[in-house]
Amino acid sequence: MIYLDHLASTPLDPLVLDAMLPWMRPGSVGNPHAAHAAGWRAADAIEEARQQVAALVGAQPGDVVFTSGATEANMLALLGGLPPGGRCVVSAVEHPSLLACLPELRRRGHPVEMLPVDGAGCVTPDDLDDALSGCGGEPALVSVMAANNEIGTLQPLAALADVAARHGAVMHSDAVQAVTTVPVDMTALGLQGLSLSGHKMYGPMGIGALVARAPLRPVPAAPGGGQQRGRRPGTLPTPLCVGLGAACRLARERRDEQALRLRTLRERLWLALRDRLPGIRRNGAEDGLAGCLHITLPGVDAADRLLDLPDIAVATGSACHSGSGEPSHVLLAIGLTAGDAHGSLRFGLGHGTTAEEVDRAADRLAAVLADPEPLHRK
Ligand code: PMP
Repeated sequence: MIYLDHLASTPLDPLVLDAMLPWMRPGSVGNPHAAHAAGWRAADAIEEARQQVAALVGAQPGDVVFTSGATEANMLALLGGLPPGGRCVVSAVEHPSLLACLPELRRRGHPVEMLPVDGAGCVTPDDLDDALSGCGGEPALVSVMAANNEIGTLQPLAALADVAARHGAVMHSDAVQAVTTVPVDMTALGLQGLSLSGHKMYGPMGIGALVARAPLRPVPAAPGGGQQRGRRPGTLPTPLCVGLGAACRLARERRDEQALRLRTLRERLWLALRDRLPGIRRNGAEDGLAGCLHITLPGVDAADRLLDLPDIAVATGSACHSGSGEPSHVLLAIGLTAGDAHGSLRFGLGHGTTAEEVDRAADRLAAVLADPEPLHRK
């Protein structure tokens, strides 16, 4: 199997697994919230993980709220972070987990605005300025992702956070896809909220974090037992927290080297595909996320053709996340037709990807597409 779907999920790094394993053995029993030595040991391990998460994103350990993943972190930021009557401004290309909060915000009476993007998927600071100018001094929360999970476009976060600050708005960013290859420092950028996900950064599934700095103070949907200073109730899963911490430490150490390596591989893949596939187009900004290549093959039914490539894991750019077959809101937002969206593919390169795999994937795809009829229908 050639795995080129690292934007959907990354493999667990063996060093992360090593860090987690001691906390999964029977000898490591202890509720991290319990007031005895076994509990304190677990609590210390979680505290170290908080420091590792905070260090990756330029925050303080106390700002880190562990969640079940980025879906919950995004929900906690929006549904739990907006003060009554506050305005919510998001981009049109946010992840579905964030966009799914908008109907509930509207139901609660919050004004909601969606920022358009240009053909590369980029939000402009002027559009944010316009959206916040009309808010007449009411509190506001802006959420714009650091890197898009479909086309890899990086947003101008510092400039956007600057505009948000001028209007007294809180700025949150879903940085799930960015942190392994792009520096995201909340202090330097001026962000008050940031979402992370373990399984997009070589950490475990089932854990993520909302990093929340004042004045963002999320109120959880469930009252629960007051853990994490009342910001997210529930007993913390020690092995998962330790795993996320280890993944953040490794991301920090490897970020620049991986960004360089993946960018080189991405361009190698693009050139190999461009030379073999007439009519191919590349989507997103020229130099977006290092491990992401998003292409359109006009007139091709990408999902159907992938059935002939069961040994290559890539994503169709057309399928929305629920698998409904609707064209992606991101591709429509950057101006693709529904037809072109269905002819789109997303390659997600990662730590384990080699030049040989990239070459082989391009060869295999070209060979399959050279045939006018899909093999599986012959
Ligand atoms: N945001 C982005 C940008 C993502 O790519 C994803 C995962 N597809 C999520 C949020 C949701 O993360 P999780 O799987 O941890 O809920």
